[in-house]
Amino acid sequence: MTWTRSRPRLDKDNRAFWTGGAEGKLNIAKCGDCGGFIHPPREICRFCLSENVAPHAVAGTGVVDTYTVNYQAWAKDMDVPFVIARVKLDDAPGVYLTTNIVNCPVDAVDIDDPVRVVFDEQDGVWFPLFEKAG
Ligand SMILES: [Zn+2]
Repeated sequence: MTWTRSRPRLDKDNRAFWTGGAEGKLNIAKCGDCGGFIHPPREICRFCLSENVAPHAVAGTGVVDTYTVNYQAWAKDMDVPFVIARVKLDDAPGVYLTTNIVNCPVDAVDIDDPVRVVFDEQDGVWFPLFEKAG
């Protein structure tokens, strides 16, 4: 996974998510009133419409909800194959991150595998990727 990823446009709502990796933290927006997690991050809670929303560092662990293997090199410097997965976070109910599973062969990944976050820093953005845990 060495290619240059598309850079997200940082704003006050999503900055904590994209830069938390600098401190090793996976920050997910959480409502201070109803406790709901909001992803992608927004300034208003999607459950109770509260504006009392702030970044919350979650454990960074989860399970593979579903995945696919990409064999097509969409960019010149892209290493294939690689796994595109949807990861369900352990401690942020309802939050699923679309990400990559790294540091293992593509055929070692399966649904329900426990994973933990690792960060790929590119140009001031810490992309949350996941590797198999244990
Ligand atoms: Zn709320």
